Amino acid sequence: MAIDLNIEEIRLIGEAWTSPTLYSHLTTLCDFGSRFGGTPGEAAARDWLRDRFSQLNLSNVHLESFTYTGWHRGTCQVRMLTPREIPLPSAISLVYSPSTPQGGLRAELVDVGMGTEEEFSTHDGKLTGKIVMVSSASPEGSRTWIHRREKYGRAVAAGAAGFLFVNHLPGRLAPTGSLRSGRIAEIPAAGLCLEDGFLLSRWAEKGPVTVEMNIQNESRPTEAAHVIGEVRGNPGRETIIVGAHYDGHDIAQGAMDDGSGVALVLELARLFAPLAGRLPRAIRFICFAVEELGVLGSTEYVRQHAQDLNDVALMLNIDGGVTGGVGGFSLSGFSELRPLLRSWTEAMEMPLKLDETIATATDAFPFVLAGIPAINMRSRGRDPKLGRGFGHTAADTLDKVEPRDLHDAAMTLSRLLLRLATYPNPLARRRTRDKVRQMLIEHDLERPLRAQDKWPF
Ligand SMILES: [Zn+2]
Repeated sequence: MAIDLNIEEIRLIGEAWTSPTLYSHLTTLCDFGSRFGGTPGEAAARDWLRDRFSQLNLSNVHLESFTYTGWHRGTCQVRMLTPREIPLPSAISLVYSPSTPQGGLRAELVDVGMGTEEEFSTHDGKLTGKIVMVSSASPEGSRTWIHRREKYGRAVAAGAAGFLFVNHLPGRLAPTGSLRSGRIAEIPAAGLCLEDGFLLSRWAEKGPVTVEMNIQNESRPTEAAHVIGEVRGNPGRETIIVGAHYDGHDIAQGAMDDGSGVALVLELARLFAPLAGRLPRAIRFICFAVEELGVLGSTEYVRQHAQDLNDVALMLNIDGGVTGGVGGFSLSGFSELRPLLRSWTEAMEMPLKLDETIATATDAFPFVLAGIPAINMRSRGRDPKLGRGFGHTAADTLDKVEPRDLHDAAMTLSRLLLRLATYPNPLARRRTRDKVRQMLIEHDLERPLRAQDKWPF
């Protein structure tokens, strides 16, 4: 039976706004703990998500597992040694940091500001053997924010012995995040809160400063699994992938990043499950594993499915928070989507911002590299000056997510997904490998990706 789009849309809006499970699902996810790769909370969340998909009667509900290099936080102490001994108690290891020698690593500190390419070049030849300190800020008006992995990569390339990554926002919150993708990084690295970083820069302005880093972490082969379920479409037609990552960082609940995204995936699955067999395009819901280890899980998924993603028309990625509801989408360079999405947002009378940005540090990116059209949800309340805000700190907790914003996002996303699944014409063009490369170069991403050890791809 064909579906009446107007009636369906009104049903989706009503169901999304009144959903009894949307926020409670986020609460449950946060109660599993961080869901960091290799923890019992991750395994519990995985099994719970699979049960939710089964309970919703999705088709083809299954786990897809793979093995990767796991990483487990041990101890981390950082202190200024000279000219005065001062501990820096906020210090935490960054993910995939190797251990220092027992007894610690001591070296002179160099403050490289925000860690831009230009700032690194002013220290050319002077960073060998030094502990490089950069802030998590990006210059105002820069093309996009400069990723931690890019700054780290430049420090490694410059011959640094250690790396300190300082939060640019106050509140005694040290940032975490991965240094490399799926492998132990080259030099020890720690996150510091703004207040500890400010102290170091203040002393470094006056004269030479020596810092000691003492870091011990562990690594072992670890298994992770994506959770997958589908709403059937018309046989032989295309598939839309809707994804979010269910792992978080080990220091927080990962409520915004990305518990909220997974709660939305569950909600969309609930809303669309009754439409099985009645939509032209199928919808595949994927809760990705271990995104926080350098976009590792989705990279593995695209690699394992290199031969059978030909029917995927679009990947919709929901990552990093819903503050203020849906603000728009980044189109990852697939600019032909703009007029289509524009006409839909006008029909919905919802002004959504569409930008061309190719976000390289989230689960859409491996799909983009494979030439598959992929877009990222942006939250309305996102202030570029804040960067990640509370994300990747111990304060990414349930209280940061407004239930109303979640419902707002579920409404907007469900209306969009209905259109994506039923639009009779092609959505966007696939890109060849050469075209993807060209697109990345046009977006000025070659050097940032090279610094992150992701170029050539
Ligand atoms: Zn995320």
